Formats: sequence, C-alpha cells, structure tokens
Amino acid sequence: MNENFLTALVVILVLILICRELTCWYLKQNEIVGLLKSIDSSLKNPAGIENNPSPQNLIKCGGCGKENIKGLTHCVSCGGTLNQFIFK
Ligand SMILES: [Zn+2]
Repeated sequence: MNENFLTALVVILVLILICRELTCWYLKQNEIVGLLKSIDSSLKNPAGIENNPSPQNLIKCGGCGKENIKGLTHCVSCGGTLNQFIFK
C-alpha cells in the first residue's frame, strides 16, 4: 500500500518535470525564432531607414526634386550627385 503511494508520487513528479521541460523548450523556441527574425531583418536593412522613411531620413535632389534616402550619393530618379549637406 505504502509502496503504491510512493510509486504514484514518483510518476506524478516525473510527469510534472516532463511538462515543465516541454514548456521551457517551447518558450525557448519562440525566443530563438524572434531573435532570428530580428537578425534577419537587421541583415536585410542594416540602417533600418527603408522601413522608416521619415523626413529626417530623406534628402531632396537638387536636379529633379525627387526625395532620396539619406546615405545615397546619387539620385535614384535622375542620377545626379546628391549634396548631403542641403536638406531642402
Ligand atoms: Zn534627381
């Protein structure tokens, strides 16, 4: 009788430990996937400016007036040289 109780206790403990391990594994997988996604997006867009084309990240072309992302040396529209020091 006492032996049966101890066996049941051990089985329950093992089940609890297995459930805990599975939960930890699942949470860890989620964390890894999130981290990989952020690394992937950082690699695709190092400066993060294309996802956030705010006016501070844009520079107007003196030739055609097209707004280009800051950091480019030439206009994507007309190909003219961009002056990085004139913003408007
Ligand atoms: Zn231009």
